[in-house]
Amino acid sequence: MTTDLMPNRYRPGETELPSREAELIARRDSVLGASYRLQYRRPVHFVRGEGMWLYDPDGRAYLDFYNNVPSLGHCHPEVNAAMAEQAGRISANTRYLEPHLVDYAERLVETFPTEIDRVVFTCTGSESNDLALRIARYTSGNEGVIVSSYAYHGTSAAVAAVSPNLGDAVKFSPNARIVALPGPAGVPDSQAADFFESQVRAAIDDLNRRGIGVAALLFDSIFSSDGVWIDPPGFIAGGVQAVREAGGLVIADEVQPGFGRTGSHMWGFERHGIVPDLATLGKPMGNGFPIGAVVGRKGPMERFGAIARYSNTFAGNTVGIATADAVLTILQRDRIPENVLAMGQFLRDGLEQIASRQSGIRAIRNAGLFLGVDMGTGDASPTDRRKLALDVVNAMRDDGVLISTTGANEDTLKVRPPLICEADHVELFLAALERALAKVAVA
Ligand code: PMP
Repeated sequence: MTTDLMPNRYRPGETELPSREAELIARRDSVLGASYRLQYRRPVHFVRGEGMWLYDPDGRAYLDFYNNVPSLGHCHPEVNAAMAEQAGRISANTRYLEPHLVDYAERLVETFPTEIDRVVFTCTGSESNDLALRIARYTSGNEGVIVSSYAYHGTSAAVAAVSPNLGDAVKFSPNARIVALPGPAGVPDSQAADFFESQVRAAIDDLNRRGIGVAALLFDSIFSSDGVWIDPPGFIAGGVQAVREAGGLVIADEVQPGFGRTGSHMWGFERHGIVPDLATLGKPMGNGFPIGAVVGRKGPMERFGAIARYSNTFAGNTVGIATADAVLTILQRDRIPENVLAMGQFLRDGLEQIASRQSGIRAIRNAGLFLGVDMGTGDASPTDRRKLALDVVNAMRDDGVLISTTGANEDTLKVRPPLICEADHVELFLAALERALAKVAVA
């Protein structure tokens, strides 16, 4: 695992910046808490967004192949109109009766398998995971949480403590256990399910031996921060079963793959042929408006709700609901997942062609429009592979195309465009990647 937890970032003194940006950074540094990081070696400065594009103060356009929050495109006019219309009428909370909340909740749970028929709203993905852990711990009576090696589940104290991705800066919970994923461990697909299940069973045994017990298996069903390890579909099923047998709940973190990013399914867990007890939603749900949710089976939701009052000032407010409702309508009406499948394949084919004529690409993984592209030739050192990935990302940024890195060694390109991208955007992206590869020294 890299010791630098966000390698793709600005480091003071390393790059010469124009005075406009340098002055803004100095002002940020003198007023913001020190935990912020700016992305890219030369930070980007945007004043406007539209569809697939972001614009800097000089009007230069950048093609966005990174942001999965505005999955219908930046500043979608219909989404914004719904948000503004509701904000101009009333912004109220879930303690007042209001039909739109119920209408949207019904429509949302309809997109899940029938076993999942309850929803509680939140404002962020972190809050969704935090609440899901509370529900799992209460209903199981256990404390233990099983996560993947490089998982990230959010910012609250409880979820940061089960996010190994945050490194040593956050004390990893003594009640959490890490399981390796078959892909990064080099396990062949034919043995992937057995490997994962045996990892999970060992974690359960250890939790039981120490009297902690297992409350939940919490996993991002596209394993994005582990490096986008999605295959083979179904490899998690045995581990899911083992956790259930041990009395724990299964929590699918859908913050990254949810709302159609995989194209084949609305929810990432569906690719694995399992139905979780709880699923946690966030990022694209409001196309930029902060709204998330925990959806789940009636049993745990009712057992928890019977003792716990869950009152959240902003979650489920009428403006967020109107916005999320518009997002879901457009996603379904415009058949966005079909576009995701087609564009995901087009993008993958283009990447494979580049890999066949240029060195530097080791492996390509994708589910719809979430792609992980491993960088570096087979015999390059981890340090060289990471440097290559960062050089490519930053060359592309200078060329006006935005992506970043992921994975334990941060040597995987993370490519995650808004879901509305079209063939000409993909072609622009591929051309920029090819230029970047030609420019940087391939290790
Ligand atoms: N889960 C996953 C898998 C995430 O990627 C993130 C955010 N990157 C979160 C949870 C936390 O979401 P938020 O930042 O909205 O709190």
